[in-house]
Amino acid sequence: MPRVKIAAGNWKMNGLGASTAELDAMIAGATGSAEVVICPPATLLASFAARAAETGVKIGAQDCHPAASGAHTGDISAEMIGDAGGSHVIVGHSERRADHAEDDATVRAKAEAAWRAGLVAIICVGETESQRDAGDTLGIVGRQLRGSVPAGATAANTVIAYEPVWAIGTGRTPTLAEIAEVHDFMRADLANRFGTEAADGIRLLYGGSVKPGNAAEIFAVSNVDGGLVGGASLKASDFLPIIAAA
Ligand code: PGA
Repeated sequence: MPRVKIAAGNWKMNGLGASTAELDAMIAGATGSAEVVICPPATLLASFAARAAETGVKIGAQDCHPAASGAHTGDISAEMIGDAGGSHVIVGHSERRADHAEDDATVRAKAEAAWRAGLVAIICVGETESQRDAGDTLGIVGRQLRGSVPAGATAANTVIAYEPVWAIGTGRTPTLAEIAEVHDFMRADLANRFGTEAADGIRLLYGGSVKPGNAAEIFAVSNVDGGLVGGASLKASDFLPIIAAA
């Protein structure tokens, strides 16, 4: 089965009610065969999900708490995301790993929470610049994959995003060969753990300074099944060409 590509937008801490116009333009303008997932801030989750219902666009959140409910002021659970109409949740983004000291065990618990609530977990991994300079990229990515992706990952419940930390929001990207090296490695590592059939179905996204100008070449790389896009997913004029390229 060929893997359907994904164009996922991570809006991070951006977007107000007025940004609904961008969502509407994305819904109206999306072309091609890729799955489109937009992850607005939690404040816009329910309204975006209502707006995107019955369209080809899916809505996701950017984080969830491992627990279903309880005394966790300020957090939202995977169940709440599902209740608001979301179908996906990003877990383990490097900004959460750095800003909120999330380790692999926490990310794994969040991915399990996503599955418990019937959501697709978009699990992020990626090395820092110093780790790459030290020649540790595959070691770090492998360790994060094994630590963050729970047993039981399937094509239906899991998407993995390789996001080199140094490429996020910087305008810099790895070479296509470097992206291929990591994605081929991730596919093989998943096959070792989950068997070839499950591993072959899991979509592996690249993220980090994906733009309209580089999306097509990146999405054509071996084992790249689309992108997780930050800055260039905020405006329909940027994200629509990326969706079309996926
Ligand atoms: P960027 O962010 O596209 O703005 O580099 C990607 C991400 O952090 O998901």
